[in-house]
Amino acid sequence: MNRLIELHLHLDGSLRPDTVWELANEQGIDLPLHSREEVRNQMRVPENCKTLEEYLERFDLPLLVLQKADALERVTFELVEDLAKAGVEYAEIRFAPQLSVQGGLTQAEVVEAAVQGAKRGMQAYPGIRVGLILCCMRGDTNEALNLETVEVARQYLGDVVCAVDIAGAESLFPTEHFKKVFDKVQAYHLPMTIHAGEAAGPESMRTALSFGTKRIGHGVAAIHDAELMQELIDQNVTLEVCVTSNYHTKVVPSIAEHPIRKLFDAGVRVTVNSDNMTASGTNLGKEIEILKNTFGFTEDELAKMMEYAWEARFLKD
Ligand SMILES: [Zn+2]
Repeated sequence: MNRLIELHLHLDGSLRPDTVWELANEQGIDLPLHSREEVRNQMRVPENCKTLEEYLERFDLPLLVLQKADALERVTFELVEDLAKAGVEYAEIRFAPQLSVQGGLTQAEVVEAAVQGAKRGMQAYPGIRVGLILCCMRGDTNEALNLETVEVARQYLGDVVCAVDIAGAESLFPTEHFKKVFDKVQAYHLPMTIHAGEAAGPESMRTALSFGTKRIGHGVAAIHDAELMQELIDQNVTLEVCVTSNYHTKVVPSIAEHPIRKLFDAGVRVTVNSDNMTASGTNLGKEIEILKNTFGFTEDELAKMMEYAWEARFLKD
């Protein structure tokens, strides 16, 4: 079996529903939901989900319980545990510290709690290595919070915190609006990846490349732009592709119409990722099965993808 490397995985989209239920009770949060089953359903994307924005509503409930340090530590540990048990040997987990400051934590304290959880996970499961990517958020009122995220990333960059990203509603808040944030990322020489070419087109990816990134989250819009695809190839840019998630957010009308096969065959460095294990009801193993069954990827081709992922990882000893 091929080695398993996961480069694009959101913490808040990958929580155990039972944990969210337990944390809500522990923290005395009055949920409008009355059972573990209802929590599970709420966290899972509905079959008729129509947009990225609707998809992102899946994160409201998890974020309610992620405002305390012990909860952040716990869920990070549990995700490392889930990945290790699934045989993943290297994973980069991402989250936005600014979404966990409603209970009085600073972004730095949020990051410290997640780092503790990741370290405890790696101690319990020595077969896995985990990095944390700090996400800025697309928006028009949070520039100070984004700049703080970059500062925190600079402060904690090391053997766990490994890069900066930007996530959120790409069509509402275009990538070009975040130049100031990524100027700072570049000035500090922080490793980065950028969600782009998911809900917006090739121009969003071009902007991301102009910020200096060598990794792009999703990037499926490149299929509409041969020149851009060539640029990705020439510049050794790695795409973190998440097939099931792209179907759920209607980036593609069906799984079968996903361009991952065409991108790979053209020579783009494509990797396979889960994005959100709970929200999309998936994991790396399921995504790989889709690549085999729907797109006919061979073991050798999958090994090539894992090689791309390994080369693009942020934590290099
Ligand atoms: Zn993502």
